[in-house]
Amino acid sequence: MPLIPGTFLVSRAAAELEVLWWRENAPTTMDDPDWAGNAHNWGQRLLHLEVMSKPTSLPYSTCDLYRAGWPTSALEGARWIDYRPSWEGQGPDIHSNQTLFAFEAWNGQRWLLPFGAIWPGFATNTLFYAAILWLLFAAPFALRRRLRLKRGLCSACAYPIGESVTCTECGRAPPISRKSIVRLRLASTRE
Ligand SMILES: [Zn+2]
Repeated sequence: MPLIPGTFLVSRAAAELEVLWWRENAPTTMDDPDWAGNAHNWGQRLLHLEVMSKPTSLPYSTCDLYRAGWPTSALEGARWIDYRPSWEGQGPDIHSNQTLFAFEAWNGQRWLLPFGAIWPGFATNTLFYAAILWLLFAAPFALRRRLRLKRGLCSACAYPIGESVTCTECGRAPPISRKSIVRLRLASTRE
Protein backbone atom coordinates (compact mmCIF):
# COMPACT_ATOMS: atom_id res chain seq x y z
CA MET A 1 0.00 0.00 0.00
CA PRO A 2 1.19 3.53 -0.58
CA LEU A 3 2.85 5.15 2.35
CA ILE A 4 0.74 7.42 4.50
CA PRO A 5 1.22 10.69 2.65
CA GLY A 6 2.36 14.04 3.90
CA THR A 7 3.88 14.92 7.19
CA PHE A 8 2.56 14.12 10.59
CA LEU A 9 3.01 15.92 13.84
CA VAL A 10 5.37 14.56 16.43
CA SER A 11 3.08 16.06 18.90
CA ARG A 12 3.10 14.32 22.22
CA ALA A 13 5.26 12.60 24.79
CA ALA A 14 5.77 8.88 24.21
CA ALA A 15 3.35 6.83 26.30
CA GLU A 16 4.63 4.30 28.83
CA LEU A 17 3.51 1.30 26.75
CA GLU A 18 5.23 2.75 23.70
CA VAL A 19 8.47 3.15 25.64
CA LEU A 20 8.22 -0.49 26.80
CA TRP A 21 7.60 -1.61 23.21
CA TRP A 22 10.66 0.38 22.08
CA ARG A 23 12.90 -1.19 24.74
CA GLU A 24 11.78 -4.66 23.75
CA ASN A 25 12.17 -4.16 20.00
CA ALA A 26 15.01 -1.70 19.41
CA PRO A 27 17.63 -3.38 17.19
CA THR A 28 20.53 -1.80 19.10
CA THR A 29 20.91 -0.21 22.49
CA MET A 30 19.18 3.14 22.39
CA ASP A 31 17.87 5.67 24.84
CA ASP A 32 14.14 5.69 25.51
CA PRO A 33 12.01 7.64 23.05
CA ASP A 34 10.81 11.06 24.15
CA TRP A 35 8.33 12.03 21.47
CA ALA A 36 5.61 10.32 19.52
CA GLY A 37 3.14 10.99 16.72
CA ASN A 38 0.37 9.10 14.97
CA ALA A 39 -1.07 9.13 11.47
CA HIS A 40 -3.62 6.98 9.75
CA ASN A 41 -5.03 6.61 6.27
CA TRP A 42 -7.29 3.97 4.70
CA GLY A 43 -6.57 1.05 6.96
CA GLN A 44 -2.98 2.09 7.58
CA ARG A 45 -1.69 3.23 10.93
CA LEU A 46 1.65 4.74 11.66
CA LEU A 47 3.20 5.24 15.05
CA HIS A 48 6.32 7.35 14.97
CA LEU A 49 8.63 7.41 17.97
CA GLU A 50 11.81 9.36 18.33
CA VAL A 51 14.64 10.05 20.69
CA MET A 52 15.34 13.75 20.81
CA SER A 53 18.89 14.82 20.21
CA LYS A 54 21.00 13.86 23.16
CA PRO A 55 23.71 14.64 23.98
CA THR A 56 24.29 16.78 20.88
CA SER A 57 21.88 18.76 18.78
CA LEU A 58 22.11 16.13 16.03
CA PRO A 59 19.27 13.70 15.38
CA TYR A 60 19.48 10.52 17.42
CA SER A 61 17.06 7.86 16.24
CA THR A 62 13.50 7.22 15.17
CA CYS A 63 11.18 4.31 14.70
CA ASP A 64 8.18 4.02 12.41
CA LEU A 65 5.79 1.23 13.27
CA TYR A 66 3.38 0.53 10.42
CA ARG A 67 0.19 -1.40 10.83
CA ALA A 68 -2.18 -2.25 8.04
CA GLY A 69 -5.56 -3.90 7.74
CA TRP A 70 -9.23 -3.06 7.81
CA PRO A 71 -11.45 -3.06 9.87
CA THR A 72 -8.67 -3.90 12.33
CA SER A 73 -4.90 -3.97 11.85
CA ALA A 74 -3.72 -7.43 10.80
CA LEU A 75 -0.13 -6.82 9.66
CA GLU A 76 2.73 -4.86 11.13
CA GLY A 77 6.31 -3.97 10.45
CA ALA A 78 8.79 -1.47 11.89
CA ARG A 79 11.68 0.56 10.55
CA TRP A 80 14.33 2.02 12.79
CA ILE A 81 16.73 4.73 11.75
CA ASP A 82 19.73 5.15 14.00
CA TYR A 83 21.35 8.50 13.26
CA ARG A 84 24.21 8.09 15.72
CA PRO A 85 26.71 6.92 13.06
CA SER A 86 26.09 10.21 11.27
CA TRP A 87 27.53 12.02 14.27
CA GLU A 88 30.87 10.67 13.05
CA GLY A 89 30.18 11.64 9.46
CA GLN A 90 28.74 8.29 8.32
CA GLY A 91 25.29 7.60 6.97
CA PRO A 92 22.48 6.61 9.32
CA ASP A 93 21.85 2.94 10.12
CA ILE A 94 18.52 1.80 8.78
CA HIS A 95 17.09 -1.33 10.34
CA SER A 96 14.00 -2.59 8.66
CA ASN A 97 12.96 -5.48 10.79
CA GLN A 98 12.06 -8.76 9.14
CA THR A 99 8.43 -7.83 8.70
CA LEU A 100 8.58 -4.64 6.65
CA PHE A 101 9.26 -4.59 2.94
CA ALA A 102 9.83 -1.14 1.42
CA PHE A 103 10.11 -0.43 -2.27
CA GLU A 104 9.63 2.36 -4.76
CA ALA A 105 6.96 2.14 -7.46
CA TRP A 106 7.51 3.14 -11.11
CA ASN A 107 6.00 6.56 -10.38
CA GLY A 108 8.43 7.22 -7.54
CA GLN A 109 5.78 6.60 -4.89
CA ARG A 110 7.12 4.81 -1.86
CA TRP A 111 5.31 1.64 -0.89
CA LEU A 112 5.58 -0.16 2.39
CA LEU A 113 4.41 -3.68 2.91
CA PRO A 114 4.30 -4.87 6.51
CA PHE A 115 3.93 -8.63 6.75
CA GLY A 116 4.24 -9.53 10.41
CA ALA A 117 0.91 -11.04 11.37
CA ILE A 118 -1.13 -9.61 14.24
CA TRP A 119 -3.17 -12.76 14.84
CA PRO A 120 -6.22 -11.35 16.70
CA GLY A 121 -6.61 -8.71 13.97
CA PHE A 122 -6.12 -11.33 11.28
CA ALA A 123 -8.88 -13.50 12.78
CA THR A 124 -11.25 -10.54 13.18
CA ASN A 125 -10.78 -9.43 9.56
CA THR A 126 -11.15 -13.00 8.27
CA LEU A 127 -14.50 -13.37 10.06
CA PHE A 128 -15.57 -9.93 8.84
CA TYR A 129 -14.89 -10.72 5.18
CA ALA A 130 -16.33 -14.22 5.49
CA ALA A 131 -19.56 -12.66 6.81
CA ILE A 132 -19.66 -10.24 3.87
CA LEU A 133 -19.12 -13.09 1.39
CA TRP A 134 -21.87 -15.08 3.07
CA LEU A 135 -24.24 -12.11 2.85
CA LEU A 136 -23.42 -11.64 -0.82
CA PHE A 137 -23.63 -15.25 -1.98
CA ALA A 138 -25.46 -17.47 0.49
CA ALA A 139 -28.03 -15.17 2.11
CA PRO A 140 -30.15 -14.51 -1.03
CA PHE A 141 -30.61 -18.28 -1.50
CA ALA A 142 -31.45 -18.82 2.17
CA LEU A 143 -34.01 -16.01 1.97
CA ARG A 144 -35.55 -17.51 -1.21
CA ARG A 145 -35.94 -20.93 0.46
CA ARG A 146 -37.71 -19.34 3.44
CA LEU A 147 -40.06 -17.30 1.26
CA ARG A 148 -40.99 -20.38 -0.81
CA LEU A 149 -41.72 -22.41 2.35
CA LYS A 150 -43.87 -19.60 3.66
CA ARG A 151 -45.93 -19.61 0.45
CA GLY A 152 -46.40 -23.38 0.50
CA LEU A 153 -43.98 -23.90 -2.38
CA CYS A 154 -41.18 -26.45 -2.63
CA SER A 155 -38.03 -24.76 -1.33
CA ALA A 156 -35.95 -26.40 -4.05
CA CYS A 157 -38.06 -25.93 -7.22
CA ALA A 158 -40.92 -23.59 -6.17
CA TYR A 159 -43.61 -26.08 -7.23
CA PRO A 160 -46.77 -25.63 -5.11
CA ILE A 161 -46.83 -28.60 -2.72
CA GLY A 162 -49.39 -27.57 -0.10
CA GLU A 163 -49.30 -29.98 2.85
CA SER A 164 -47.31 -32.69 1.09
CA VAL A 165 -44.14 -33.83 2.93
CA THR A 166 -42.17 -34.40 -0.26
CA CYS A 167 -42.36 -32.37 -3.45
CA THR A 168 -44.55 -33.96 -6.12
CA GLU A 169 -42.48 -32.22 -8.79
CA CYS A 170 -38.83 -32.80 -7.82
CA GLY A 171 -39.20 -35.37 -5.03
CA ARG A 172 -37.19 -33.43 -2.47
CA ALA A 173 -38.40 -33.13 1.07
CA PRO A 174 -38.43 -29.48 2.08
CA PRO A 175 -37.72 -28.78 5.75
CA ILE A 176 -41.00 -28.78 7.65
CA SER A 177 -41.94 -25.30 8.84
CA ARG A 178 -42.86 -24.67 12.48
CA LYS A 179 -46.42 -23.89 11.46
CA SER A 180 -46.89 -27.29 9.84
CA ILE A 181 -45.36 -29.07 12.88
CA VAL A 182 -48.03 -27.40 15.04
CA ARG A 183 -50.69 -28.41 12.50
CA LEU A 184 -49.49 -32.05 12.52
CA ARG A 185 -49.50 -32.16 16.33
CA LEU A 186 -53.03 -30.75 16.47
CA ALA A 187 -54.14 -33.34 13.95
CA SER A 188 -52.65 -36.21 16.02
CA THR A 189 -54.28 -35.02 19.30
CA ARG A 190 -57.64 -34.83 17.58
CA GLU A 191 -57.53 -38.51 16.65
ZN1 LIG B 1 -39.68 -29.46 -5.72
